[in-house]
Amino acid sequence: MSDDRRMHIAGNPALLTAQQREWIELAATLGRERFAPRAAEHDRNASFPFANYADLREAGLLGICVPVAQGGMGADFASYAMVAAEIGRHCGATALSWNMHVCSTLWAGTIADSLDMTPEQRADHASNRALHFKAIVDGGKVYSQPFSEGGAAAAGKAPWGTLARPVDGGYVVSGKKIFASLSGAADVYGVLCTVDVPGANQKDSLYLAVPADAAGVSVVGDWDPLGMRGTVSRTLLLKDVFVPTTARLMPEGLYWQAAARYPHMFATLSPTYMGLAQAAYDFTVSYLRAEVPGMPPVKRRMYPTKQIAVAEMRVRLEQTRALFLQNARDAAPDPDKATRMRLYAAHFTIMENAQWLAARAIRTCGGQAMLKSLPLERIYRDSRCGSLMLPWTAELCIDRLGRECLYEAGERDEEIE
Ligand SMILES: Cc1cc2nc3c(=O)[nH]c(=O)nc-3n(C[C@H](O)[C@H](O)[C@H](O)COP(=O)(O)OP(=O)(O)OC[C@H]3O[C@@H](n4cnc5c(N)ncnc54)[C@H](O)[C@@H]3O)c2cc1C
Repeated sequence: MSDDRRMHIAGNPALLTAQQREWIELAATLGRERFAPRAAEHDRNASFPFANYADLREAGLLGICVPVAQGGMGADFASYAMVAAEIGRHCGATALSWNMHVCSTLWAGTIADSLDMTPEQRADHASNRALHFKAIVDGGKVYSQPFSEGGAAAAGKAPWGTLARPVDGGYVVSGKKIFASLSGAADVYGVLCTVDVPGANQKDSLYLAVPADAAGVSVVGDWDPLGMRGTVSRTLLLKDVFVPTTARLMPEGLYWQAAARYPHMFATLSPTYMGLAQAAYDFTVSYLRAEVPGMPPVKRRMYPTKQIAVAEMRVRLEQTRALFLQNARDAAPDPDKATRMRLYAAHFTIMENAQWLAARAIRTCGGQAMLKSLPLERIYRDSRCGSLMLPWTAELCIDRLGRECLYEAGERDEEIE
């Protein structure tokens, strides 16, 4: 295979650190040799890829964003995004659910470090998260991140309906989370809730680690979706679940501050779809060159229409990658308006272009390429899910971007209100 076709998902390898290249290579090897061969079965059965998680655990990748001082790999946002994209290239569902796990460490780790806390809160947070990081690094525990509830909260428009009532030594949590990726597979659910105090509003957010085996936790409903079937995102019910104060993955109210000041925290979903976009392109090149295993050796690359189609795919892929990389490297607290707008544009572009590339790949390769014996039709279905994911669906990115293009802070249109 030529260098170009082995190309790092992260563009020019010379611009990467040696550490980033090593992590991406690790993900590529796991993806190619372990995750890709298992993907069809988990897709067919909508089953969770436990063996992939055993591999991630063994490779240390459960701790990719846990600080080095606490036994993790200490990856920053950009490095994580590149590794996640490489995993998504081989198994979208594994990359997406792994993202939910990694986010727990990223939010409690570097993102929390960049926000304001009182000295007491910071000390408390340091000791709480040390317990969770240890559980991940030494105990191999898997965390998930169910925040969707089916109402306006996941889009950031209302307080969480899941309530955490302060009691002696902790909280009692009750509520319902839909689309809880890793349901039945995670050891701990990282649940977003509202502290149940009189007059509570969105600022009274709380991010709590709820053990999967705690009394009052149950997983209900079936899981038979169009795509991303290996994420097993069923419904999580929490009924009067007691958790101690050490369950705080962030201090009370810090999630609200993070959402306002560190918007890149929501952009960790798109690397998976960058990987799927690359996978659709990779497949097309292999198919037209007659290099797909198990297919008759019939080349189709000599037809001008195929060359034009694949060139257009490459253009769209490079546009997507350019925004993906820029956005990954932009992540920091308090981005200026231009950076925030680029972030929405990048997230939208990746989610929409992954679908475009997968659809174009099917049209270009032809009927045999969409048989279930080949990965392309799974990539096509998986790629459809990205732009539906809250808080930044494609529509909501456009909504935010449109307003920010036309209004400066504080501007209103009195005449139409
Ligand atoms: C494969 C997969 C895995 C997932 N994993 C997780 C997970 O691990 N954790 C988790 O928390 N969630 C997860 N989700 C859930 C996801 O983020 C959404 O919450 C879920 O798809 C439900 O969305 P909905 O379209 O029913 O939401 P609705 O709230 O009904 O929104 C419908 C549409 O309306 C629009 N809309 C919503 N609110 C507004 C508004 N205020 N203003 C304007 N337009 C609006 C949006 O564009 C949205 O697409 C997952 C989803 C998928 C598909």
